[in-house]
Amino acid sequence: MKHLSQMAFAQRRATLLLTLASVLIGAAIIGQSYYFVAIVERMFLDQESFQEVVPLLFGLLAVLAGRALFTWLHGRTGVSMAAYAKSEFRKRIIHKFSKNPVQASLEGQSGRKVSVLMDSVDEVDGYFSQYIPQMISTAVVPLMILVVVFTHHISSGIIMLITAPFIPFFMAIVGVMTKKKSEEQMEKMSAFSGRFLDTLQGLTTLKLFGRSKKQRDTIEESSLGFRDATMDVLKVAFTSSLMLEFISMLSIGIIALEIAIRLVVYESIPFFSAFFILVLAPEFYLTLKEFGSAFHAGRGSSGAAKQLVEELEREDQSMEWGQKAIEGSQPPALELDGVTFAYKKGQTFQLQELHAVMPANADVAIVGRSGSGKSTLLNLIAGLMKPDEGTVRINGLPLNEYAEREWFDRVSYISQHPYVFAGTIEDNIAIGGRGAHTREEVERAAEKAGIAELVESLEYGYDTPVGEAGRGLSGGEKQRLAIARAFLKRPSVILFDEPTTGLDLKTEQILQSSIEELSKTSTVITVAHRLHTIRNADQILFLEDGKLVGQGTHEELLQTTEAYRRMVHVQQGGDSA
Ligand code: ADP
Ligand code: MG
Repeated sequence: MKHLSQMAFAQRRATLLLTLASVLIGAAIIGQSYYFVAIVERMFLDQESFQEVVPLLFGLLAVLAGRALFTWLHGRTGVSMAAYAKSEFRKRIIHKFSKNPVQASLEGQSGRKVSVLMDSVDEVDGYFSQYIPQMISTAVVPLMILVVVFTHHISSGIIMLITAPFIPFFMAIVGVMTKKKSEEQMEKMSAFSGRFLDTLQGLTTLKLFGRSKKQRDTIEESSLGFRDATMDVLKVAFTSSLMLEFISMLSIGIIALEIAIRLVVYESIPFFSAFFILVLAPEFYLTLKEFGSAFHAGRGSSGAAKQLVEELEREDQSMEWGQKAIEGSQPPALELDGVTFAYKKGQTFQLQELHAVMPANADVAIVGRSGSGKSTLLNLIAGLMKPDEGTVRINGLPLNEYAEREWFDRVSYISQHPYVFAGTIEDNIAIGGRGAHTREEVERAAEKAGIAELVESLEYGYDTPVGEAGRGLSGGEKQRLAIARAFLKRPSVILFDEPTTGLDLKTEQILQSSIEELSKTSTVITVAHRLHTIRNADQILFLEDGKLVGQGTHEELLQTTEAYRRMVHVQQGGDSA
């Protein structure tokens, strides 16, 4: 919340405008009451003619118009404040995610993440358009009313001063109570929908085994649970608004009673003051109550905002890049020098002090069980994240001394789930390249990646839209698309995360021969699952739980590393099965 309020008050002009509008609204409320009371007094007590009070009527009209105008101004400022804050948030998100060009083409996850973040920006709206403006007017308007009341009748002022804090106090209590209740309700809701879905999906099986009656009972039970939870939340919500109304009515009642006693019994207060205070009192409590609902809106959005801010600040596992150029166009040599990395401090998984030397043009395979850190290591080599300790070296120099562009112009990263953005197939291949490309070049790259046949069979060929709104692509097709990007780019380093799940034989052969062709002119690092890739590698890095437990060729590792032998054995068993 702190971060957000800083963002709000950084908008000096808007804050000032809100304060000004609040003062004007306060003045209009007081003026409105004043004219109203004055008219009543002059017409009914002083028995003045209608003509005499006409100027007062115009005054009242002007003040009413003013109040409407200032309220509009106040609301509009809040809305524009929210619009500004939202566009700031969006800019920061785009900036963050566009800083790293390869990240964008990496995994669909980043694309989905950006769109989720973009959407959640809208939830911040309530904070700026309601909470902040209401907070400012709550700080100003009741205070102005209080001052006016005090100047007319001290004891009414004192009553207001004493009763006012009860409203926010009750709001806070109710807020805390409903929060817990509505969380419970959300839980019950998801439990209910989960169970419902499970049952639907398993309906045939259940019928077959004659168990549908029992399931019906479970569903009934959990839907009743959900109903009760909802009713509980509503109960609390209704009780709370009742309480708030009750408090403000009671307070107004006390003020009225006190004034009435002064007016009728002691005759120690003029009619004008008494009536004036009585008209002002409800306005006083109304502003306080309005703050309550704005407070809830604000709290809802501050949750969304907190997530956003966290996401934006989580930024820096990414690299700071230098200026150097990579010499020559030859495939570079790579080296891991004590590379250590954890996603979060204290997380059990950690890559620990990896050392390895990968000569220029080598074919390196990273091997290990699922979760041993293979993809993580590939991300580190790609320069998508920076090691906590140690360095990745390229041709002997730390990776982060090179210029970002230099490096990313030379790398192709074919991840397990290459990102396909909304656009045509041609666009999606061309993004891999380093500049503008002709249709012929794109077609040749597609040909080499073994995707041309498929593309040409489509009605719109290379102009077929894919990605979010377009045609879906299978995992194998996406990887071939990524390889076509690589053929267009002709990288000197290839990072390839082999698919774990079985592709069809043809796709697998295409992937394999494409990578072999690309590897002639590049250093290749493959997260390998297939025995073929593993056997052919010049060097294997064998990972277990983030540690490098074996290093060498296939034959060497079979000799030296027991765990490796076992893994290969299992895999061979799996292959022949
Ligand atoms: P592999 O590719 O060998 O299957 P990964 O490198 O993907 O393994 O993951 C290694 C470990 O790091 C796993 O325990 C995984 O849960 C964890 N991990 C992977 N990505 C993240 C992430 N973005 N944040 C936190 N933990 C992660
Ligand atoms: Mg992996």
